[in-house]
Amino acid sequence: KGLKKYFDVTGGIFSRKVGEVKAVDDVSFSVYEKEVLGIVGESGCGKSTTGKALLRLTEPTEGEVLFDGKDITGMSQEEMRKMRRDMQIIFQDPYASLNPRHKVEKILGEPLIVHGIGSKKERLEKVKQILETVGLPGEHAQRYPHQFSGGQRQRIGIARALIVNPKLIVCDEPVSALDVSIQSQILNLMEDLQEEFGLTYVFIAHDLSVVRHISDRVGVMYLGRMVELADNEELYENPLHPYTRSLMSAVPNPDPDAKKERIILQGDVPSPSNPPSGCAFHTRCPEAMDICRQVRPEFREKTVNHFVACHLYEDSVKN
Ligand code: SF4
Ligand code: MG
Repeated sequence: KGLKKYFDVTGGIFSRKVGEVKAVDDVSFSVYEKEVLGIVGESGCGKSTTGKALLRLTEPTEGEVLFDGKDITGMSQEEMRKMRRDMQIIFQDPYASLNPRHKVEKILGEPLIVHGIGSKKERLEKVKQILETVGLPGEHAQRYPHQFSGGQRQRIGIARALIVNPKLIVCDEPVSALDVSIQSQILNLMEDLQEEFGLTYVFIAHDLSVVRHISDRVGVMYLGRMVELADNEELYENPLHPYTRSLMSAVPNPDPDAKKERIILQGDVPSPSNPPSGCAFHTRCPEAMDICRQVRPEFREKTVNHFVACHLYEDSVKN
């Protein structure tokens, strides 16, 4: 609710604050139990920061994060540590996120120790079990990360999140660093695990086709803001925000008869340290109007469960 994450920009010899990057700027959304909420947007749109702020891996500057109705933003470190058992994360880069000096047994056993789960023997048993759950042999517990391929390493990353039986997993571009040939294997695995364990995912990606594959609902972010959010089918069939439409039109359509106009956006994504006034998309929007340069559009429910932040859909503009 009203989630913000601002980073100070410092400069000069005294490292004084010279500005601010509004990485996440007033974002509100719900995640339902056992759903997959996809969040999509270009790099720098704030999607990863949003994901990390949900778990307080980065402290929100403002706003609330309610988990099972409890606001976690005010919790002590100790309370938060307990909450993390329910809220895990899978990182983008399986190479960077696993300690190269530790055996898999230690990497996967660590979260169990942190949460005081099991004896040493029971933990090893659990590690072997979880390896098998993610499609690796249990004996691989005695190997080091470099002995695995990229896809296998991401399986270990998934196992590490899964081993404490979480409810929610923030998946931060979990397949972006993998070969295309491996991506669908990992996506299918994640889909199976989600069903098998009744998991809730916040699934972050820059690739619309990846998000489409796995999500029940999809949110679109642009320059630190959520600009559209709807059910998967609804969003793909009836995109409202001009930015969403441009993203959709960039996805190749396998149907040769489909008449889809390709919308080419003008210019680059503006700097998040100096975002445009009003609607942050106005510098690139093919439909920008005068009001767009001045007034920030509110994020509202246009039709049931379909939210959009765009002046085109505000009654005051339409009438
Ligand atoms: Fe385009 Fe205006 Fe809508 Fe922004 S508010 S997306 S500039 S039409
Ligand atoms: Mg990212």
